[in-house]
Amino acid sequence: MTMRVGLGYDIHPLAKNRRLILGGIEIPHHKGLAGHSDADALIHAVCDALLGALGEGDIGSRFPSNDPSFKNIASVVLLEDVQKLVTTKGYSLLNVDTVIVAQAPRLGPHLPAIKARLAAVLGVDQQRVNVKVKSGEGIDGIGREEAIAAHAVCLLAAVPSSPATP
Ligand code: MG
Repeated sequence: MTMRVGLGYDIHPLAKNRRLILGGIEIPHHKGLAGHSDADALIHAVCDALLGALGEGDIGSRFPSNDPSFKNIASVVLLEDVQKLVTTKGYSLLNVDTVIVAQAPRLGPHLPAIKARLAAVLGVDQQRVNVKVKSGEGIDGIGREEAIAAHAVCLLAAVPSSPATP
């Protein structure tokens, strides 16, 4: 069986007057992530992991930030597009594992909703999706609540008799 691993990482600054969206879920907080889209760092990391596994570059090349059609776009729409590409290229998602690095707010209570949303958008059972959170431990910009980062790894398997190539 052909399998392909992918790695993704993203970071966005926290800013006032922005909604905080992670994994497609809005989380109550006095600041939100700033960026061209809704700045959902977790979904961007997952997109990059999937694109990486496919050998299809990265989110910046697929959805250029100078393209006005992506301004303030919900990142779940980007993930839906990338998930379709996974299928088109003949792969299925075995699993995705993620880490959000955030000093604040406390994300633990929101992890089940984030996981459910990611699994729904990816079209897989929740057992194939894992979402973890780490504190910034007060270190650097994340620890000073200036930013939130996310990491993701995924494993894709070629669907038998599909167009997938090693
Ligand atoms: Mg991003």
